[in-house]
Amino acid sequence: YSGHKEAAMEQARAVLRSTFGFNDFRPAQEEIIRHLVNGGEALVLMPTGGGKSLCYQIPALVREGTGVVVSPLIALMQDQVDALRQVGVRAAYLNSTLDASTARATEQALLAGELDLLYVAPERLMTERMLELLARSRLALFAIDEAHCVSQWGHNFRPEYLKLSALHERFPEVPRVALTATADAPTRKEIAERLGLVQARRFISGFDRPNIRYRVTQKHSGTRNELLCFIRDHHDGEAGIVYCLSRKKVDSTADWLRERGLTALPYHAGLTKDERQDHQTRFLREDGVVMVATIAFGMGIDKPDVRFVAHLDLPKSLEAYYQETGRAGRDGLPADAWMAYGLQDVIMLRQMLESGEASEDFKRIERARLEAMLAYCELTTCRRQRLLAYFGEALPEPCGNCDICLEPPETWDATLAAQKALSCVHRTGQRFGVNHVLAVLLGKDSERIRSLGHDRLSTYGIGTELDATGWRAVFRQLVAVGMLTVDAEGFGALKLTDACRPVLRGERRIWLRKDARPARRTRRRERT
Ligand code: ADP
Ligand code: ZN
Repeated sequence: YSGHKEAAMEQARAVLRSTFGFNDFRPAQEEIIRHLVNGGEALVLMPTGGGKSLCYQIPALVREGTGVVVSPLIALMQDQVDALRQVGVRAAYLNSTLDASTARATEQALLAGELDLLYVAPERLMTERMLELLARSRLALFAIDEAHCVSQWGHNFRPEYLKLSALHERFPEVPRVALTATADAPTRKEIAERLGLVQARRFISGFDRPNIRYRVTQKHSGTRNELLCFIRDHHDGEAGIVYCLSRKKVDSTADWLRERGLTALPYHAGLTKDERQDHQTRFLREDGVVMVATIAFGMGIDKPDVRFVAHLDLPKSLEAYYQETGRAGRDGLPADAWMAYGLQDVIMLRQMLESGEASEDFKRIERARLEAMLAYCELTTCRRQRLLAYFGEALPEPCGNCDICLEPPETWDATLAAQKALSCVHRTGQRFGVNHVLAVLLGKDSERIRSLGHDRLSTYGIGTELDATGWRAVFRQLVAVGMLTVDAEGFGALKLTDACRPVLRGERRIWLRKDARPARRTRRRERT
C-alpha cells in the first residue's frame, strides 16, 4: 500500500519536473500533494504566491479523470487555462464569457475524458445541467479555490459558494480540496463547516514573510514627523504605501508629505476613476512614489519592490494587517512594516463596528478580531511569532527581525498604577473616557471635575507619579490586556472587566511596557 502511495508521489514529482519545469516541491506542497494524490480531502491555507495552484493541478494530472476547479475569478480563468495549455496540459474553462459552441465543445471534451483540468464558475457548476454532465464524466477531484468566499463573515461572500456543499452529497466518491489565502480561525471554521470539510486534513503554511521587519510605535502629536523621518532615513527614494483610515486623512497626509519633498499621491474611493488610475500607474511605473491610501488600494497590485508599508491608523484585524503589510517586499528583499497606533484608534474602530448594521454574532467576532489586533500592538514578545500563531502556524524561535526581538521593551511593575487607574474608572462610574479619568488621577482643577464632584473622590490626585502620557500608556495597555474595555456607545467610556478583579484585590501583579518618548527613541536607535 505504501508502495502504491510512493508510486503516485513519484509520478507527481515527474509531472512537476517535466510539465511545470520545477525541480522541487515547496515543503508544504509536497505534503499536500501526497495527501491528495491518494484521494484525501484537505483544507489548504497558504498566502498568495505560496503555490496553491500546483497543489490541485498536479493531483488532477496524476489521478485518473478530470480535476474540476471552482473559481469565482472569471477574469483570470482564461489566463490560467492559457498558461496550462502552453505547457501541454489539457485544460479548459466554462463560464458566462464563452459562446455557446465553444461551451458545447468543452462539455464534449469533458465527457470524452479529454480534459485534465476544467475551471468552472460556481454559479455554472451548480446548475442541474452541469451536475448531470459531471455525473457522466470521470472526475479526479474538486478544487474549491478562494474558499473564503463561502464565509458570510468574510469580506468576499458569494452566495453561490454556499451551494457547493451539495457537491459532496452528489459526488461522495470524488475528493475535494478547498484553498484560500485569507482565513483567520473563525473563517476557517466556517469554511470547513459550510463545505462539509470538518474531517478533512488542514494544511497551514507559508505565512511567514521573513524579509518583512515588523515595528509598532505609539501615536503621539509628532507621529507624522516620525513617519517622515522613518521614510527619509530608511527608504529615501523608495516605493511605499501609507495606509490611513479616512479619505480626509489620506488627502492631508499626502499633501503634508508632498510639501516636505516626497512624491506622495493619494488614493481612495472619493477620487475620480481617472485620478485613481493615474496614481496607480505612477506608483507602478515611477521610482520612489509613496502611495497614501485607504484600504481601497492594494487589491491585485503586484509591485515587487514596495519597500515599506506604514499604518497611520490601526487596521481592524490582524488579518487585514497581514494582507496590507504583505504588499511590502514581494521581491524577497528587506522591507519594513511600520505602524503607529493609539487608544483613540481602538475607540474609533469600536464605534464604527458598533454603529454598523451587522448582526450581533458578526459584531462579536469583529470585536474579538480587534482585540487580537490590539494585543499584538502591546506585545512584549516576538511579533512574528504572534502573527503566525494567529494563522495557526508555529514559529519555534523568536524571529530576530521585529522591533521586540531587536530592542526588547523594558517593562516595569505597574501593579500600583494599574490599581489606581482601575479604581478611578470605578469611582467615576465607568462613564468617562481616558482623558477625564486621567485628569482626575492627576488632580486637575477644572470646572467639569468640580461640577461632577470628582475632586472629592478618593482617587482624585493620587496619580501624580506619572504624567498624562504615562497614564495614557497605562490605560492603553490595560485595554490591550482586556482589563478595561472601551464602550463605543458611551463615547469611549472606559469600563472594567472581570479580568481586572485579581489586580484590584492585590492577587496579581501586572507588568507593563515602559513607553519612552517614541520619536526620539526611534531615531537614536536607528543609527546604532
Ligand atoms: P497562489 O495560487 O498560492 O497565489 P501560485 O500557485 O500562483 O500561488 O504560485 C505562485 C508562484 O510560485 C507561481 O509563479 C508558481 O509558478 C511558483 N511556484 C509554485 N510552486 C513552485 C515550486 N515548487 N517551485 C518553484 N516555483 C513554484
Ligand atoms: Zn521577532
